[in-house]
Amino acid sequence: MKIILLGAPGAGKGTQAKIISEKLEIPHISTGDIFRANIKGNTPLGMKVKEYLDNGELVPDELTVEIVKDRLGNDDCAKGYILDGFPRTIPQAEYLDKVLSEMNTSIDLALLIDVKDEDIITRMSGRRVCTNCGATYNIVFNPTKVEGICDSCNSEVIQRADDSAETVLNRLETYHKQTQPLIDYYKKTNKLVVAEGAEEVKDTTERVLKALGI
Ligand code: ADP
Ligand code: ZN
Repeated sequence: MKIILLGAPGAGKGTQAKIISEKLEIPHISTGDIFRANIKGNTPLGMKVKEYLDNGELVPDELTVEIVKDRLGNDDCAKGYILDGFPRTIPQAEYLDKVLSEMNTSIDLALLIDVKDEDIITRMSGRRVCTNCGATYNIVFNPTKVEGICDSCNSEVIQRADDSAETVLNRLETYHKQTQPLIDYYKKTNKLVVAEGAEEVKDTTERVLKALGI
């Protein structure tokens, strides 16, 4: 199954993507994770994109689409994948449709995890992420067992630089302007399914699996 995840930053896409990916045994492809790994590794791509991420702005489409195209060509994508953070603009969505049709395939579903802005802001200020395995936590809703230490791999858990209050507002604005129009884009082709984000991860998961019919 080929799935796109839609939703505001902090809606819980990454968390749900991990769960779906394990359940369906398909890769979880997160453009945000790819960019952060490149920044951490000081690669040429990392150096080009760092400033955008720090400011909560979108990386230009030219840089983003190439990475995704490469990644989708990998053997592990044959059975399907879950795309988290891509597409994020209408041109990216059009590009994806084009690339997939060249591969004689298409997206099966676009899943929107729907969360209100005010909840997003509360959540993101409490979000923490593992520096090693990428697991995400929340100091209020989903804390680590030991403060600052990842439950699954024992590495350090930190706040992402772009989760600071000011950047969060910027990212939300960017989301409304550039990414929200994708909801209509996928509605038009009958690919859109919606799961309302719940307070508890497991309740959201239940709605997500139901929406996907898995
Ligand atoms: P979130 O969804 O929580 O904002 P991500 O990890 O998906 O976080 O993305 C972090 C940042 O990476 C974005 O704010 C943006 O700068 C960049 N980014 C990720 N995916 C894309 C994309 N498809 N197009 C442009 N920029 C992207
Ligand atoms: Zn970890």
